Amino acid sequence: MVANSVVVVGAGSAGCVLAARLSAQPRRHVVLVEAGPDYPSALPPDLADASLPASSHDWGLRTEPGGLDLPRARVVGGCSATNAGFWLRGWPADFDAWPTGWAFDALLPLFRSVEADRDFADEWHGVDGPVPISRVPVDDLEPYPRAFVDAAVACGHAAVADHNRPGAVGVGPTPRNVLDGVRMSTALTHLAPARARRNLEILPDTPVDRLELVDGRPRGVRTQRGDVIEADSVILAAGAYGSPVILLRSGIGPAAQLRALGITCVVDLPGVGTDLVDHPLVAVDLPATPGRRGPALPVLLTLRSTAADPSGPPDLHLFVAGPFDTPSVPSGAVFGIVTGLMSPRSRGSVRLRSADPGDPPVIDPGYLRHPDDVTRMVEATLAARRISRTRPLVDLVAGPEIAPGPAVDDDDVTGLAESICRRVGPYHHPVGTCAMGAVVDARGAVHGITGVLVADASVMPTIPSANTNASTIVVAERIASAL
Ligand SMILES: Cc1cc2nc3c(=O)[nH]c(=O)nc-3n(C[C@H](O)[C@H](O)[C@H](O)COP(=O)(O)OP(=O)(O)OC[C@H]3O[C@@H](n4cnc5c(N)ncnc54)[C@H](O)[C@@H]3O)c2cc1C
Repeated sequence: MVANSVVVVGAGSAGCVLAARLSAQPRRHVVLVEAGPDYPSALPPDLADASLPASSHDWGLRTEPGGLDLPRARVVGGCSATNAGFWLRGWPADFDAWPTGWAFDALLPLFRSVEADRDFADEWHGVDGPVPISRVPVDDLEPYPRAFVDAAVACGHAAVADHNRPGAVGVGPTPRNVLDGVRMSTALTHLAPARARRNLEILPDTPVDRLELVDGRPRGVRTQRGDVIEADSVILAAGAYGSPVILLRSGIGPAAQLRALGITCVVDLPGVGTDLVDHPLVAVDLPATPGRRGPALPVLLTLRSTAADPSGPPDLHLFVAGPFDTPSVPSGAVFGIVTGLMSPRSRGSVRLRSADPGDPPVIDPGYLRHPDDVTRMVEATLAARRISRTRPLVDLVAGPEIAPGPAVDDDDVTGLAESICRRVGPYHHPVGTCAMGAVVDARGAVHGITGVLVADASVMPTIPSANTNASTIVVAERIASAL
């Protein structure tokens, strides 16, 4: 074993940051192990193109029950290499509820240190970090998002120039980590500048089975091929679905669950895989006017439901997706006003199906299990409907609403709730499955065992009221800075 060595499992949003930061110390040997392929020079076109999320490098996970697709990238860069490129931090209150050391005031310098914001330079924004951030000016937006902004303002929502300024609630351009149309993953922003270091080894196409434990201490990790990668310490950054299952296969998790699968329990840690939380998403689908196309993602409306804390973070997101060619509708195209619930009360879980690492885990995100979440999603749908019926957006709607559909009136709360529950899907922001407090301490160290850390979206003890890439990167920066 190389002295002072660390193996980082998973080269996603967090893993690329960890590998870059930890290998900055020349005397430390860092091995970055990733299940998917690596593209150190030319990216496949869909991984470069930031106009839509990419689906080519996927784990193929699905919810149980429900059978909904749960996209998760399997490639160096992880979901930061395939995502929609929204760069949102969440609100101060989101982090102020986290353990000591994680309050927003402590994290703001880290958010700023990773950003190169091209539009704002003030106390809230960084300008010389590795991640380029920009917004498409409202006047340059494609017709659908432009009409959405104008209709939202006509409905009484405030115009917002910058969604990353604490206190901003309303409609405006989405900050995105996109440069010249390229999605700037952490493989590009963090790993690329570190690749030439002699103390950094990158092992793509190497899925990890579990920790290699000798007398209860980690000696590295065992790959699914059966070989052992030796190291003094292990940092799991395999994501909110990947990290808990590696712990579980290693015998760290709820004892009864492990015993039932024939896995020897090394640390009885009931929190592993529990408290999964993700933002649920559902759209108001509308027929589009043929011939008026353009990528529609870069605009966002944030608002508060009537149940939200009036001084707290906005708990609803609305944005436009599409138009997408859809031959089955008379107009030939569909667009959606997509609504997301940003402070869900529902909780789900990730657990092993078997001890076989080739078996996908059982993932139950629990979308809309809590009745309050349904109530707030009904409000989001009503807000989206109001905007869709307001000029100038209504002029781009080419016929009757597709879903929930004209048969469901605005005052038919039961009908709206049924439609939402039938169509709900993921906003792709799972967190909480190795949460600080229940599973790891405030430095990311797993309770009950030395030399094993988790440093990715899974350690977030509550979900930020924003898309989670930026906060995951900051989690990795924060944990790496203490090592
Ligand atoms: C379709 C989609 C769109 C999204 N859009 C946005 C957005 O616009 N803005 C935003 O802020 N967030 C977005 N997100 C969410 C955001 O990208 C994630 O929150 C973030 O990338 C999570 O980072 P992570 O490091 O925790 O996990 P990941 O980035 O998923 O990284 C985990 C890595 O570990 C690897 N891995 C897993 N298991 C193993 C194993 N056993 N052995 C070896 N390697 C393993 C995986 O292959 C992966 O590369 C989106 C996500 C998706 C899927």
